[in-house]
Amino acid sequence: MATKLLLLFAICRLIVIVGLTLDPTTDPIVIVGIDGQLTVDRHDIVSASTDFGKMTRTEPTAVLHPASSNDVVKLIRLAHESAHGFTVSARGHGHSINGQSQTTAGGNGVVIKMTGSRRNTPVPEVDEKLMYVDVWGGELWIDVLKSTLKYGLAPKSWTDYLYLSVGGTLSNAGISGQAFNHGPQINNVHEMDVVTGKGELLTCSMDKNPELFHAVLGGLGQFGIITRARIALEHSPQRVRWIRVLYSNFSAFTHDQEYLISLHNQPQSQKFDYVEGSVIVDEGLINNWRSSFFSPKNPVKISSLGAGGNVLYCLEITKNYYAGSNPKSIDQEVEALLKKLKYIPASVFTSDLPYVDFLDRVHKAEKKLRSKGLWEVPHPWLNLFVPKSRIGDFDKGVFKGILGNKTSGPILIYPMNKNKWDEKSSVVTPDEDIFYLVALLRSALDNGEETLTLKHLLEENRKILRFCKESKIKVKQYLPHYTTQKEWMEHYGEKWNQIHRRKMEFDPRHILATGQRIFEPSF
Ligand code: FAD
Repeated sequence: MATKLLLLFAICRLIVIVGLTLDPTTDPIVIVGIDGQLTVDRHDIVSASTDFGKMTRTEPTAVLHPASSNDVVKLIRLAHESAHGFTVSARGHGHSINGQSQTTAGGNGVVIKMTGSRRNTPVPEVDEKLMYVDVWGGELWIDVLKSTLKYGLAPKSWTDYLYLSVGGTLSNAGISGQAFNHGPQINNVHEMDVVTGKGELLTCSMDKNPELFHAVLGGLGQFGIITRARIALEHSPQRVRWIRVLYSNFSAFTHDQEYLISLHNQPQSQKFDYVEGSVIVDEGLINNWRSSFFSPKNPVKISSLGAGGNVLYCLEITKNYYAGSNPKSIDQEVEALLKKLKYIPASVFTSDLPYVDFLDRVHKAEKKLRSKGLWEVPHPWLNLFVPKSRIGDFDKGVFKGILGNKTSGPILIYPMNKNKWDEKSSVVTPDEDIFYLVALLRSALDNGEETLTLKHLLEENRKILRFCKESKIKVKQYLPHYTTQKEWMEHYGEKWNQIHRRKMEFDPRHILATGQRIFEPSF
């Protein structure tokens, strides 16, 4: 209670400092600032206290809707300089799983809502000649895309889902089937404006403040709040040939995926633009919502494909093309690449669609799940980077072992080239040239089936992590979640000293992104 009062006192000081005034027309109390709004509105507090994972809940003391980098500077400066301090977490679209964009339980915290309807922040600005776009850190990728398409341009590297904020994905890595070729999103940023934990607004790039630049990329919000990012663009393709083929043999599947990503240095006509994959253990909407190939009308009959066992692997590839391209030559390019692969011949499924529809595909699936009440449920997701040398052991132990015949959600699996990742960023990946993303994107349902309960799925996640540890499979969590500093030190391994040093330099009072539970606030 005492600390809560102190924060309110601090906020009152902020009112004085930035010249904020109380808006008497709104109820409950809303404090209106020169640029943005600092509020204790119940609706704001509640919506900033949960996330997509729906497994943790921490109420902040107040929420800031910033209108400019300056609002962020003023709040953080106050948190940093005040004797008793308070924590500050940026919230992008709140699509974390384990409370990463929340403040710490039991403490005083302000959440900065970087995105949302009350935003009044700068709009994207495209430089057609230099092929980049400058965007506010809370911009959603779908809106970045819409703004660049007006110029026939588009970012190069994506996530599968576009309703995520630029700051949120850059704080992790931002990966999808283009990462083998272009690297993750953090490798496609030229420059950023960042407000550090000391309240300094700095522009950073490879050449200017490079330590901050590398720290913030993949930095889990620990070193500063991204208020502007300059994203690299390319000429946007207009259409996509989207192909799915199935495998029953895991090593044939991974062999082909690795072959396809080895073509990253080839001319565009001789490689695919996107390489992903998934594990198909059983049927149904909840398992296959990420893929538009599967629908109740078009179920995958595993038995009919001669899989022998219960597990099939789906390779998903695309070929982008432009308005002026000759469809016949696209057919030939696809044909030439498919010829080299060893999938089940009867399993080819092809569609052709606008580039935007392909990029925005998961939103379509989201709408379907929402209409059935299956979106707003707990999501005990587990994302792992698995070294190439052990992916076969992972298959035997997890897909064919621990998971049995029930997945409770899509499982993505695709390889990436480590040389497309910048070692200087704060993200950690396995120590091999190729590593796989394995994403267990499961939904917990309360429909009486024991295997679908949150408790069961969380226990299965623990079993998977234990299996990896006992089998010495050196996985790294992507979108990591740990609760003790010891676990974080293990996660970062040799990088821990650098992470610690960066924290001391850019956020010495450990104010920022405490929901990640890496550093305890020092007040
Ligand atoms: P939030 O959850 O709001 O924040 C995440 C972290 O970043 C927090 O620590 C927060 O404090 C920090 N943060 C947020 N904004 C800023 C900022 N401006 N500056 C500094 N720190 C900030 N990821 C992929 O890589 N590829 C995918 O294909 C993919 N698909 C997804 C699909 C769905 C349906 C969901 C729910 C998630 C998916 N993710 C994917 C994961 C997603 O990239 C991360 O959870 C990401 O953090 C979400 O962005 P957000 O804007 O919701 O961030």
